[in-house]
Amino acid sequence: MMERLSRAVRTVADFPTSGIQFKDITPILSDAELLRFAVESLADPYRNAGITKVIGIEARGFIFGAMLADELNAGFIPVRKKGKLPYTTVEETYSLEYGSDTIEMHTDAVHESDRVLIHDDVIATGGTAAATHRLVAFGGGSVVGYSFLVELSDLNGRALLDHGVPVHSLLKY
Ligand code: AMP
Repeated sequence: MMERLSRAVRTVADFPTSGIQFKDITPILSDAELLRFAVESLADPYRNAGITKVIGIEARGFIFGAMLADELNAGFIPVRKKGKLPYTTVEETYSLEYGSDTIEMHTDAVHESDRVLIHDDVIATGGTAAATHRLVAFGGGSVVGYSFLVELSDLNGRALLDHGVPVHSLLKY
């Protein structure tokens, strides 16, 4: 099944800009069996970790992030690009594989007692996940895990993450 999942990720050359090999996960989303398998596999390492909140990073991180929150009986927190969240926010600017960006989270989203899992569909340079960790730190919550569907191993994004926190990715390219 993991083989099937791996084959379902479609690599699109030169999207959104020249030189980027874009990992398109939509063929997983459209296959009911693969979708269920992916969500269960993402949840497995964290079932007994006492996760209270799952953070999903805009936009594709919302899809599995919300499903993962449901699977782990946790709440869901969206981290969004600047200007999209309606309430007061905390923000972080970071660089990514193509360009730079600012992300935001609601100031009341994470509490000190929260055990947070950070999810995104793809980890490339790790800048987005690292910036998200800094947003959680603002609210005083602890990040107890990182979860990715796809890891682009050559970019070594893990190096930017907190080395004391487990990182699980289902598919490595
Ligand atoms: P990074 O901060 O470099 O780890 O980039 C992670 C963010 O950019 C994630 O939200 C990914 O969805 C997106 N991303 C970066 N590179 C790729 C890629 N090659 N294929 C698909 N998504 C990517």
